[in-house]
Amino acid sequence: MVKAYIISTGTELLLGSTLDTNSVFLSRRLNDLEIRVVGKSIVGDNQEMLARAFQLAMASADLIISTGGLGPTLDDLTKTVLCDTLGCKLEQRPEEVERLRSFFSERQREMPDSNLKQAMFPEGARVLPNQRGTAPGMYLKREGKVFVLLPGPPHEMEAMFEDVIPLLKQEYQGLLKKSLSKTIRVFGPGESKIEAMLKPILQNQTGVSMALLAQEGEVCIRVSSQQEKPEESQVVLDEAVAALSARLGDYIYGYDDDTLVHVVSKLLKEKRKTVALAESCTGGLLSKLMTDLPGSSAFFWGGICCYSNQAKVKLLGVSADTLEQFGAVSKETAQEMARGIRLRAGTDYGIGITGLAGPDGGSPAKPVGRVYISLAGEKDCFVKPMHFVGSRDAIRMLAAKTALDLLRRELLKDNKGDE
Ligand code: AMP
Ligand code: MG
Repeated sequence: MVKAYIISTGTELLLGSTLDTNSVFLSRRLNDLEIRVVGKSIVGDNQEMLARAFQLAMASADLIISTGGLGPTLDDLTKTVLCDTLGCKLEQRPEEVERLRSFFSERQREMPDSNLKQAMFPEGARVLPNQRGTAPGMYLKREGKVFVLLPGPPHEMEAMFEDVIPLLKQEYQGLLKKSLSKTIRVFGPGESKIEAMLKPILQNQTGVSMALLAQEGEVCIRVSSQQEKPEESQVVLDEAVAALSARLGDYIYGYDDDTLVHVVSKLLKEKRKTVALAESCTGGLLSKLMTDLPGSSAFFWGGICCYSNQAKVKLLGVSADTLEQFGAVSKETAQEMARGIRLRAGTDYGIGITGLAGPDGGSPAKPVGRVYISLAGEKDCFVKPMHFVGSRDAIRMLAAKTALDLLRRELLKDNKGDE
């Protein structure tokens, strides 16, 4: 098993002004490659501490990955400290000097001498080009260890790490386990319910494991299989995923990188259906989610944020009697909102969401977390009463996602009708 150690450098990380997200990203990606992260250090822009971190890393792991400290300023020390630790020299790479010169001349700027530092690399190091910034990274094999130095800004670091993966695969050929995995994405039931549903299925299967991760009403089920040969892993994985999927049925909204919005958008497009929203307690959050993906105008008419009673009456035609008799947070109001927006927009579907996101304003009859979500279609208009628990933000997000899931289910029902 290949062991890795991660070093995050930057005084801002110690001050708490920047969160060390780089090492979290790297841990996940290394774990995916079946490389075991045995430790991490966060150090400031400090020569002595950085040297100690490198020493500890070398004593603990085969692969040492650092982020940060590759810039042109005095506090950018990573390459120098690594060279001191390994007893090697930095040398200037003419092609890198050239690259920097053209970078500055393209921008009609004078290159400060300090930037030449970015063209210095240890002997034998492979330069990793930076597609998104000026500081290149590097890959070096020395004393039986692999050192990978990456820049600090997360989007630069993440893009560069993609280029490192093939190098690691080549370096550790045969050592990286040949496990395969697939993620099943579910909306609705909680983690423990899913675990209870699925565990018996995997109980008698060897070489297959399952990990659950719950967030914002969704549960991701990561199924992994590890056999001697990759082809065998694939067969076992496919069988396990099929068995688990059969058990979960339409709780599943997608696989791997799918998101609820993505899946719903795709279904709306395929079926050439359109939708309009009337949002009260979600305040436009669902409209925002719907428009996160480009091209949503093909199916998304728009949404109205009808927060006050007046807005519900004036913009959607909710009757004042309904509001008085049942209240703004009620099944009846939700339905009139959904129908009202559908008629006004002339879309296939209308969604109405009304509820209490809290933290104040609850009563025993209508506690915080009570949300009514209504979906109006051509034939009928149903409403789902929900009770969510959590912060205001969490309740709003759960309400928006539940509405998406209702629409997803309705669109799939439509499917069955077509057959
Ligand atoms: P540097 O490569 O040290 O010049 O880093 C530049 C910027 O990248 C810093 O100011 C941070 O905003 C960001 N950064 C550096 N290290 C990390 C890290 N470990 N996690 C998240 N952001 C980071
Ligand atoms: Mg820094």
